[in-house]
Amino acid sequence: MARWPRIHLTTGPVDLSPGVLQAAAKPVLYHYDPLFLDLYAETCARLQQIFTTGHDVVILQGEAVLALEAAVVSLISPGDQVLCLISGLYGRGLATLARAVGGVVHELVVPSNSVIHPDDVRRALRRHPDIRVMTVVHVDTPSGTVNPLPQIGDAIAGTEILTIADVVASLGGEPFSPEASGVDIAVAGSQKCLGAPPGLAPVAVSPRAWQAMVRKEAPRGSYCSLLDWKDAWLDHHRFPYAPSVSLIYALHEAAGELLAEGLENRLTGFAAIANACRAAMGSMGLALWPTSNAIASNVVTAVCAPEGVLEADLLAHLRRRYGVVLSRSEGELAGRVFRIGHAPAHPTTLIAGLGLLERSLIDLGYALTPGAGVGAALAALTGWNDSAF
Ligand SMILES: *Cc1c(COP(=O)(O)O)cnc(C)c1O
Repeated sequence: MARWPRIHLTTGPVDLSPGVLQAAAKPVLYHYDPLFLDLYAETCARLQQIFTTGHDVVILQGEAVLALEAAVVSLISPGDQVLCLISGLYGRGLATLARAVGGVVHELVVPSNSVIHPDDVRRALRRHPDIRVMTVVHVDTPSGTVNPLPQIGDAIAGTEILTIADVVASLGGEPFSPEASGVDIAVAGSQKCLGAPPGLAPVAVSPRAWQAMVRKEAPRGSYCSLLDWKDAWLDHHRFPYAPSVSLIYALHEAAGELLAEGLENRLTGFAAIANACRAAMGSMGLALWPTSNAIASNVVTAVCAPEGVLEADLLAHLRRRYGVVLSRSEGELAGRVFRIGHAPAHPTTLIAGLGLLERSLIDLGYALTPGAGVGAALAALTGWNDSAF
């Protein structure tokens, strides 16, 4: 039988802190116990701080894909004109969801190693002035790129367009605020940079989006309903159905740890770790999948497998021989690109993982001077200071 892994450098589910693991193991409270109601309200308040928003936050109980579907179902009616910005797999997924509910989808597609340009959004709006809803992904995780959400928001400023943003991979790892990007529904996931187990999807909803849902009589009485959570939790501090108590404990703790460390510190940490990782790849002669460092995300580094080394062989070798887990790629990138996740961003795991990545590449016949990548990463890590958190 395989051994338990030693180091996870995946895009999620990510490693949990000891405090988060302990929180999940606490006795399960009755969900209307006053202690649980307070803890739940505090979890929502903490998430609002992490979203950097005054918008309402509700927590859907399923993986992030549930909340993405809920956002689409709640805002898009049959015949609505929808602009879907597609720079990767998840962008395409949102277009598929929008079509499934009868949206008339206009795709703005760019290659998955690049990002959406705001001027292209302006052009698309001139061509289709009756767009009602726009969908966009912040970090399209499989390609390791980060779309410029504030600039894309500027491109639609002053319009009535409602925007759905997938910030599942990025919340807590890349700067984001719904207000700063004109986002009406922002969907996150518990298991990425927030540092909680999979199974919860925090969603920030603007007043405009609630009004639109009420006007169009968006679904109620459905697992995909955002309005159910507004009617029950936001308006009456009741639950539409029993909450996932243990997962809420874990998310409450994870959000508390993040805020205790400071959102700014966390974001700086991600930037430093990603920068060190990119420096290492350069020194190891490995090309990033994104066309430039400027559009590479700080939460994941997507790397092209070198000539002569198959991505699947590399990941299997790293896991079996050294207990290190990296993420594979999906869709059109499968087999060509491997990914190093950066949450929870810390030099200990990055440096160890990079060293064993070097060892594995050498094992598999790739010519490399041992320490080339680790040395470059260490050189780039000047200024890291745990005690500053
Ligand atoms: C991980 C991820 C999702 C999906 O999350 P699930 O937990 O699989 O539902 C959606 N979008 C992005 C950008 C992601 O990284």
